[in-house]
Amino acid sequence: MMRKELEVILLGIAPEFYRESVSPPEKSCMCFGFECGDGWFEPLLDFSRKVEPLNELAIKSHFSFVASQVKEICAALEERCWNTCEKCGATEGIITTGEWMQRLCKNCAEARNGKPQADGRERKSQ
Ligand SMILES: [Zn+2]
Repeated sequence: MMRKELEVILLGIAPEFYRESVSPPEKSCMCFGFECGDGWFEPLLDFSRKVEPLNELAIKSHFSFVASQVKEICAALEERCWNTCEKCGATEGIITTGEWMQRLCKNCAEARNGKPQADGRERKSQ
């Protein structure tokens, strides 16, 4: 779980967007939630700064344009998180580990499991 003080920062940057946190996944990227480690704070910070203005744009602009923009930055967030250690934010040697399928760097995976595990899971196709 992300530390509360980091969550507060994200909610402060994109209050309108995260208001949709109770929406189903097809309506909001909050399916990502903050059910992740502190290591993903930076990717989520970047994402939050990009997604919040789109909420304002949605009021004034054509919905399909905004929807495609949101889809694009959600894909970018997913890609970035896939390559970032969920625990410490490292971006080198990230593997999938554990029954919760966490993305961790070698050091964090070793600290968690006592030994590194093979990255036995292929990335789902887009
Ligand atoms: Zn790590």
